[in-house]
Amino acid sequence: MSVHILDAMARGGFEEVLALHDRESGLRGFLAIHDTTRGPAFGGIRRWSYRDESEMLRDTLRLSKAMTRKCVLAELPAGGAKLVLWDSPDVDLEASYRYLGRVIEGMGGRYFTGPDVGTGDRELGWVSSETQYATRPDEHGPGQLVESTGQGVLKGMEAALTHLDGEVDWPARRVVIQGLGSVGTWLASELGERGVKVLGCDLDAERARNAAQLYDVELIEPDHVLEHPCDVFSPNALGGILHEISINRMQSRIVCGAANNVLAHESLGARLADQNILFVPDFVVSCGALVRGAFFHLDGTRVPTEEIGRRVGHIVERVLDLAAEQSAPPARVATDLADGMIRAARGGEPM
Ligand code: NAD
Repeated sequence: MSVHILDAMARGGFEEVLALHDRESGLRGFLAIHDTTRGPAFGGIRRWSYRDESEMLRDTLRLSKAMTRKCVLAELPAGGAKLVLWDSPDVDLEASYRYLGRVIEGMGGRYFTGPDVGTGDRELGWVSSETQYATRPDEHGPGQLVESTGQGVLKGMEAALTHLDGEVDWPARRVVIQGLGSVGTWLASELGERGVKVLGCDLDAERARNAAQLYDVELIEPDHVLEHPCDVFSPNALGGILHEISINRMQSRIVCGAANNVLAHESLGARLADQNILFVPDFVVSCGALVRGAFFHLDGTRVPTEEIGRRVGHIVERVLDLAAEQSAPPARVATDLADGMIRAARGGEPM
């Protein structure tokens, strides 16, 4: 399905979409700047092998809009963006990332970049050698990004458990983690220390085995991850995993994880509520690294990760309380809250 780019931009209130091609490295990509009303746009670089250009563009637009919502709910003087690269063996990676660094530097601080799927320390090293507007992976950068995200997710889980049961009671809980990468293993370790029964999976068998050994994670099959009864299902792999079919198999009471755009469609938030599953919206709970990075770049400070966790926990509490008051799904409430704040910042212009 093709995307009519200008229509999509007008409908979603986007400011700018750049189509990028570098003759030297072979890079192809999109940069979407969704909103800079409240301040410069923040968003990492995703590198992924998309089926086609339309799928890639749709992902770029969706992810950048989610970043604006994340920024506004975290009350940051910043907006959302996303840079997406088409992963292909024909591309010279180092040259691609250096090229991006030069593009970003040329934007003069309108856009700040950082990590995302496919962009880790090595890639950030290349980008930040060309621009001051990227998260540096060394001691000159904000540091502790995974811990910041993890703390947010952990405190989001605590807020959701308290909302449902009036207490956290970690030792009595079962948590299923999908994706035992950076955030997933951080959570497995923290939850294990709190006496939680942790089940988990990863498509990468070696990562899964390591997590099982190091953090006492009971391994489960990735294809059946949704079918295990648990208090919290924590998606920390990729987005889009909850769709019309998979949602019927779910056996958890709460969904709370760092993966962006977990719901294949925003409307599925209502389906989860109908199934009595409390969904903590990903753009509310996964803002920890963004908060750490934005404060570092805009204010020169490194906010302690525990403080970031508390901040995220309060936002989650607010969203869940409002959802209960309005008898509305939390995803809808969080979206309306964020979009209302963005509209107000834009002087009433529609989102
Ligand atoms: P990561 O790449 O370190 O880990 C993701 C893991 O998920 C990988 O080990 C991968 O093999 C696994 N995976 C992919 N598909 C899977 C599937 N279907 N089933 C099981 N495992 C699968 O990424 P991360 O940094 O841990 O981030 C996890 C998610 O959270 C990503 O979606 C990322 O965009 C999002 N996120 C991360 C941060 C952060 O600070 N790292 C911040 C905000 C959002």
